[in-house]
Order: sequence, then structure tokens, then C-alpha cells
Amino acid sequence: MSNKAQQGFSTRAIHAGASPDPSTGARGTPIHQSTAFVFDDADHAAALFGLEQAGFIYSRLTNPTVSVFQERVASLEGGVGGTCTSSGHAAQLLALFALMSSGDEFVASNKLYGGSITQFGHSFKKFGWKVNFVDPIDPQNFRKAINEKTKAVFTESLANPGGVVCDIEAIAAIAHDEGIPCIVDNTLPSPALCRPIEFGADIVVHSTTKFISGHGNAMGGVVVDSGNFDWSQNDKFPDLVESCGAYHGLKFYETFGNMAYTMFCHAIGLRDLGPAMSPMNAYLSLTGAETLPLRMQKHADNALEVAQWLQGNSNVTWVSYAGLPDNEFYTLAKKYCPSGAGAVFTFGVAGGYDMGLSIVSNCKLLSHLANIGDTRSLIIHPASTTHRQLTEEQQISAGAGPDVVRLSIGLEDAADIIADLDQAIAASS
Ligand SMILES: *Cc1c(COP(=O)(O)O)cnc(C)c1O
Repeated sequence: MSNKAQQGFSTRAIHAGASPDPSTGARGTPIHQSTAFVFDDADHAAALFGLEQAGFIYSRLTNPTVSVFQERVASLEGGVGGTCTSSGHAAQLLALFALMSSGDEFVASNKLYGGSITQFGHSFKKFGWKVNFVDPIDPQNFRKAINEKTKAVFTESLANPGGVVCDIEAIAAIAHDEGIPCIVDNTLPSPALCRPIEFGADIVVHSTTKFISGHGNAMGGVVVDSGNFDWSQNDKFPDLVESCGAYHGLKFYETFGNMAYTMFCHAIGLRDLGPAMSPMNAYLSLTGAETLPLRMQKHADNALEVAQWLQGNSNVTWVSYAGLPDNEFYTLAKKYCPSGAGAVFTFGVAGGYDMGLSIVSNCKLLSHLANIGDTRSLIIHPASTTHRQLTEEQQISAGAGPDVVRLSIGLEDAADIIADLDQAIAASS
């Protein structure tokens, strides 16, 4: 799919997967708001259903607008194929669905987005999927938790909200020693700042809702396959290697080679679980992707400027941003995100819970809401919102203690973001 890999990142952000519409000449990718697509004839229909020919049948499986977007993100990540989904959480479900059966296990970082911790720890349990959470700061913790039932390791490149940068190369090497793939959630840096496949990740997932779409107006997710994992090296992945009962005996790996995983995610995952991306959201996300490299650089530059300013404020007790030289993850951030450590970070305030809440309430430019990756700067006090169901001890271990304020720095002028935080902190002290 990423046949234009020789072109530069900015060129692919605009062009990968797209070409002028052959019937109308439309230069922008049209929104193909159609549920189904007419077959040329009976042979064409049979070839499409038999997966012998690529094409469009029904928009739960594939859609022309969505296809351009999945090819775009796959190219930016350096993968061979992609599967778009209705949200980031649906992408995580699909990514594991191809690998897991009831009774299987996977090992995941315990420093993930809070929603992922809940999805893995509670809802996936109902499928008979068992997660073992480990502290990712020492990659050896993944090895210790792997057993003969383990089918994957899962981590975030840059973890939200704690600001933890994972040593993807070391974690992927451990997974490969054990004959299982390494899945990386690359939502926070986006492929503009970090490309996990270059460090050995086999599968990358995104909430495109965040930075890739980038404007706070379209939910979405994507699963990208590097095409590098040999599914037949052991007997752990029967759905991909053996005759597939859910597709009249088709052997995905034998038939599709390095596209086996992506074909399975479409032909079985989307077909049977159903979390397809809407054409409208694919269109909005494509428009966002065109400016991804420009936006991410500005997001990261603004975040660094705001983090440095916060460090000098007497009411701020600490700033956890991996782009700051005194941060414990600075060296890893320089390796994995050399152009900038993203735009999401936390800081602590001297006045604890009440002061954190007051700062959020007093901001005028920054919006108080539960999202990240918007053009607009966003602020939230996790202890009173996203993490309020947890005990104080659990909040602290999740990086969301009572004194913590989380920022997602947008694309406004850094001076205006700083001025707003300055007045909000002054009004709260
Ligand atoms: C938001 C988010 C998700 C979940 O994505 P949705 O699009 O909200 O379903 C997963 N991982 C990370 C890192 C996120 O920030």
C-alpha cells in the first residue's frame, strides 16, 4: 500500500493514497457517502466476495474515502496496510481480535491512557482475554509477564497523562524473542514526531480523534501493520495461518503474505465486529492529516515554551514534560521523538486539589474539557474529573494526584497561552 515510501513525509501527508477522482476530476478526495457499491457483473461480485480482487462491496468492510485515509496513515507510519475504525478504542479491539482467542493473554504497560486500562482490564475480560499490566519503565518487566498463552505486548510510545516515554526498541526485541508482536499506541506523538515501526514495532494503533485529525471534530481510529511479523513462525496465531472457518477455509497468511493481518482486520474484524469509520469522519481526518507535520512541530514548540515558563512560576511545584532537559525521559524522548515530545503534559501546583481546580476554572483561552490533540489549547484537572472514581493512592500512581493539572497545548500564539495560564494561576493563589 505505501508504494510512495520513497517520497518525503510532508509529501505523503498530502498525497499518499489519493489521486484525482477518475469520473469527475475532483482534486480533493470526495466523501463517498454510500452504503454499497454496484458490481460490474456476477463474476466481479464473486471475485470481490472471494477476496480475489480488491474493490468495494459495502461500507462496513471498505469505503473509497475511508480507504484513502487508511492508506495515508499506513504510509506515514511506514506500514504495508491499515484498517480504519470508528474510534481509537475500536482500533485497539480490532488489533487484538486478530491475535486473541478466549483464554489467551497479553501484556500491557500500566502507564496507558485511562480508558485503555479500563477497556483491557474490565471489558476485554468478558471475551476471556486476560491482560497482565506491567510497569514499562523497565522493559524486562514485559519478559517476566509473558507465558505460553501470551499473544502480544501493548504499550504507548508517549504515555498520557504521565509523560512516560517507552523504550520501544527494547520492548519489541523482547516480544520478538518470545515469538509475539509488539503493538504500540502512537496517538500522542503521531507519526510526525515518532514512528514506532522504525524501532521494531509490528502493529501501530491510533486514536485519529486526536492529533492526526487534529481539529477536535472527528472520532476515528486506525490499525497499521508493519508487514514485518512472520505469523507462521510458531503455532500461536491460528486465525492468520490455518484454514479460517469464518471465511470458508481461507488461509490468510498463505494467500496474502505480509497483508494477511490487514486483510483479516477487514474481512473478519470489521465484518463481524462492525466498528467502521464513517466516510465523513475519514474526509475530515484526511484534511487534518495534510497539515500533520506542520501542526505537530508547532504543537511541540508551543508545549516546550509553555513548560519552560511553568518551571519558572513560584506556584508550580513540578512540570512533567519529556522535552525538558531535566526530565527523567529526556534521553528516550530525544531518541524516539527527536523533533519534539508532543503537546500533552502535566504540572503540579503548590495549593493542591483546590488550587488545581481553581486554575482550570479561571482559564479563559484554554478550554476545560476531556480531550487532547485539538488546535485549541485544552486543560483539565484529572483528580476531579477523568480520575475521580479512583482512590487518592490510585490517582497518584496514575500520575493524576490531587495537585496535577493536564494540558494539551494547541496552535495559538504561545504568548497568549502563557498569559492565560499566568492570570489563572495568579487568581488561584
Ligand atoms: C483517546 C485515546 C484513546 C482512545 O481513543 P478514542 O478515539 O477516544 O476511542 C486511546 N489511546 C490514547 C493514547 C488516547 O489518547
